[in-house]
Amino acid sequence: MIQCIRTYHLQHKLEESFGLSQWHYDTRNALLVEVVDDSGASGWGECYGPSAVTQCVIDTFYAPLLLGWDPLKNESAWQHSWRASLDFAMKGPMMGAISGLDMALFDLKGKLLGVSASELMGGRVRDRVQGYATGMYFRKVDEKKMLETILQEAGGYVDQGYRALKIKIGKNRVFDKLQIQTMRKMFPEIKLMADSNHAYDLPEAIQMGRVLEENKYAWFEEPLSPQHTSQFRQLADKIDVPIATGESEQTRWGFQELLSKGGVHIAQPDLSYCGGPTEALKIRAIASSLGINVVPHAWGTMLNMASAAHFLASSYVEPGRDEVEEPLLELDRTPNPMRDEMYAVSMEISNGSAKVPTAPGLGVEPDRKAMKTFCVQEREEYNVSKNLSYVD
Ligand code: MG
Repeated sequence: MIQCIRTYHLQHKLEESFGLSQWHYDTRNALLVEVVDDSGASGWGECYGPSAVTQCVIDTFYAPLLLGWDPLKNESAWQHSWRASLDFAMKGPMMGAISGLDMALFDLKGKLLGVSASELMGGRVRDRVQGYATGMYFRKVDEKKMLETILQEAGGYVDQGYRALKIKIGKNRVFDKLQIQTMRKMFPEIKLMADSNHAYDLPEAIQMGRVLEENKYAWFEEPLSPQHTSQFRQLADKIDVPIATGESEQTRWGFQELLSKGGVHIAQPDLSYCGGPTEALKIRAIASSLGINVVPHAWGTMLNMASAAHFLASSYVEPGRDEVEEPLLELDRTPNPMRDEMYAVSMEISNGSAKVPTAPGLGVEPDRKAMKTFCVQEREEYNVSKNLSYVD
């Protein structure tokens, strides 16, 4: 029985900001969720989205609904949460809250049953997942200096063993084009992807897509604003580079609508936002029915990254062949001590790939002491009808 739900809003001020087409980050935020059952076992999840808002939603709305629930009944917990908030939670931070809770229940269920998350997802078809480095963000320096910094950063990842890198585009088209071409010239053997974070309108996206095509990029991520779902088909008709999108999309119904319109080749739900691992499996089934592969968006701390690794470890690549091209795990390499220094048990990442954890649940554990140093707000809801056996 679920006895206690705790949320931790974590924050870290960056020494140097970094940017994408829309804004610059100078602070990293994370919202971790801990679900404790009456045996004292804890499951951990995290939520993508505005941490303070999502924390309030869990604490005041979903936690009271789920206290006393059987943690093995994660599907019905999802359904119960969904039905209780359907009129106002179809998309947005409330679905982000459901996602983190679902991830925590997934972790807890695995621990209670003694199986890993990838086993709960259908079983591993690979024990390591190839990664790609997400980085090469914009800096607040002149463009010449910035390009040099980006190339240097990219070279560092290649030296570490990464064979795939994703750059940011969408600054301005002159710089974007120069960056796309220079990266290709400098790294002819590396798989390259580009992410505009919905910076372009359709004619601009067609133009940039052609540059990516000429330079043999593996995918064009978020070329268009996510609300213009019918434009992806139009873009895909004009360019010969795979289109990836979906990090701001949520639920099976959202992905059903997006993917069935055509033009999206790679679906990118975030397991800490799309509705959680349980919902991501349904999204994978929908994508599969349309012949589309799912490559999760992963941003945040190790819980989300491990969830994505388990998901990919249990993914069948469409349409399948003997020499299949391995699915790629997004490995955010931007500065974040809450991801890299806050876990007592972390996921092993080496030579550009991740070893899928085999311990029960997600197989990664935050270090409570380290976590407290980042915590700006901790909240707790517990079931008053039973004594809490968990002791810190
Ligand atoms: Mg992206």
